[in-house]
Amino acid sequence: MTSLTLRGIVKRYGTVEVIHGIDLDVPSGEFVVFVGPSGCGKSTLLRMIAGLEAISGGEFCIDGVRVNEVPPAKREIAMVFQSYALYPHMTVYDNLAFGLQTAGEKKDVIEQRVQLAAAMLKIDPYLQRKPKALSGGQRQRVAIGRAIVRNPKLFLFDEPLSNLDAELRVQMRVELSRLHAELGTTMIYVTHDQVEAMTMADRIVVLRDGVIEQSGTPLELYNRPANRFVAGFIGSPKMNFLDATVAGRDAQGLRVRLPGGEVLLVAADPSKASSADAVTLGIRPEHARLADSGLPVSVGLIEQLGGNTVLYGTLTAQQPV
Ligand code: ADP
Ligand code: MG
Repeated sequence: MTSLTLRGIVKRYGTVEVIHGIDLDVPSGEFVVFVGPSGCGKSTLLRMIAGLEAISGGEFCIDGVRVNEVPPAKREIAMVFQSYALYPHMTVYDNLAFGLQTAGEKKDVIEQRVQLAAAMLKIDPYLQRKPKALSGGQRQRVAIGRAIVRNPKLFLFDEPLSNLDAELRVQMRVELSRLHAELGTTMIYVTHDQVEAMTMADRIVVLRDGVIEQSGTPLELYNRPANRFVAGFIGSPKMNFLDATVAGRDAQGLRVRLPGGEVLLVAADPSKASSADAVTLGIRPEHARLADSGLPVSVGLIEQLGGNTVLYGTLTAQQPV
């Protein structure tokens, strides 16, 4: 059982503040994904949780106990990085066993834990190989295995699948979700890939420029994005954003006028805007339908993906959709 509490967490490098006061509660056993564009502070936040980076302000608690000053080795946290960071001169077995050996663990306990992790990750056939004789996916599994054998209270993953090809990433994604279901351990997973976030997370935390833009279940973020950034970040192909003005209000919602003159009725809270206000209309691509009336679109490009077809085009006033 491991819950985390972050209160007003700040990180400064010299005079530059990169994390601006993060408040977050992670209940025990949750799979939380930090997602956001490159440089938004995902790794920094994770490293502060691991204890690899000093916390400049605020309080971080594990199971209600402040751990700001607790060194990484005492936090019982295991971290997996994008670069596998395996020992090249050691066999897979020794890579898995090394941390337990240095911790003075008994030989039979080490043997048992290594075999268990190896079986779980299906790397048992390679235990006597060196890392250079493994594929990228197998190496990443060894790196994950090294975290598992330590029996940590908390797993941290920093973009662990970024070095793998697309097919292997999908496969590892499924395996990691299964691993979480099997172990039930609290996990925090960092990625810039919103598909990974949507498919793996119990809860997604969307970060931008060192602040949390929104935190919620994947479908909460998808269906009720808190702001335009989250709306544009979650979903592929991206949501369309159209500049519009409020043309009127009625009981069913707002009527908005597009630059091409078309007026649409939108199921938005009519109390949130007044006539002539400038607004942005967000439309998910999959909500468009072919019809004889509505918005005329001239199609420029067609992407056929088999199951889906994506059309790129422009509206009357040349807005891209
Ligand atoms: P992400 O993992 O989301 O891509 P990082 O957490 O690595 O982002 O970085 C967040 C911000 O902190 C970036 O602007 C980065 O340049 C800055 N940063 C990270 N490490 C250092 C450091 N050691 N010194 C100064 N600035 C840093
Ligand atoms: Mg990073």
